[in-house]
Amino acid sequence: MNLIMIILSLIAGRNNFPQADKYQEERDNMVRFQIIDRGITNAETVKALKKVPRHLFVPKEYENEAYGDFPLPIGYGQTISQPYIVAFMTEIVRPTKKKRALEIGTGSGYQAAILAEIVDTVYTIEIIPELAKESTARFRKLGYRNIIGRSGDGYNGWAEHAPFDIIIVTAAADKIPVPLIDQLAENGRLVIPVGPSGAIQDLKLLVKKNGKIQTSSLISVRFVPFKRL
Ligand code: SAH
Repeated sequence: MNLIMIILSLIAGRNNFPQADKYQEERDNMVRFQIIDRGITNAETVKALKKVPRHLFVPKEYENEAYGDFPLPIGYGQTISQPYIVAFMTEIVRPTKKKRALEIGTGSGYQAAILAEIVDTVYTIEIIPELAKESTARFRKLGYRNIIGRSGDGYNGWAEHAPFDIIIVTAAADKIPVPLIDQLAENGRLVIPVGPSGAIQDLKLLVKKNGKIQTSSLISVRFVPFKRL
């Protein structure tokens, strides 16, 4: 890339990603074999996974494994989800440009970044202060101005910014937190793993229609536990 192209792409680009990304090919392969071949069809979701530099969301020592078909440790006993699960959860909440999303369990910030590529604003809450701080710094560095993060227990949602068209919970709860259901907008979609920690959980989708909740079970998953302060 010559200098003019670099300047142009800096001006045009929404995010400040490093120019020479040595992982682009790995990322394209991840999208092809783990995401598209497994049935993810939503164009915006696919585009976001092709774009977001997942290797910048994992600890340095795991950088070269970032595009593998598995979750990875991110410190403090927590994990970044497997790429397919991130894509699945993103597609199922039907993200579009004008929607506002709430995520509980920021972790590395990868799921929030994927959503932020598509929707208007992402609010995200992380219970471990260090991870909240690290992800906030990462959002700033990568230029995600439409992600608003804070540290705290996400059980009570974020009433100040409710209602949300999309709510994604990325930690497994025994029961679906009632405040989150209350903060779901009409026609809103909430996805959450439900079940005991350390075991197989049920990924559930809740849709609010005429004020009533319709619940369905999607797939089996394994997430870290939803904690309480
Ligand atoms: N979405 C994350 C996945 C992180 S794992 C990513 O893309 O990397 C789930 C995260 O949920 C962990 O960081 C954990 O600390 C956090 N968590 C667990 N219980 C929580 C709660 N009650 N409120 C907010 N975050 C919580």
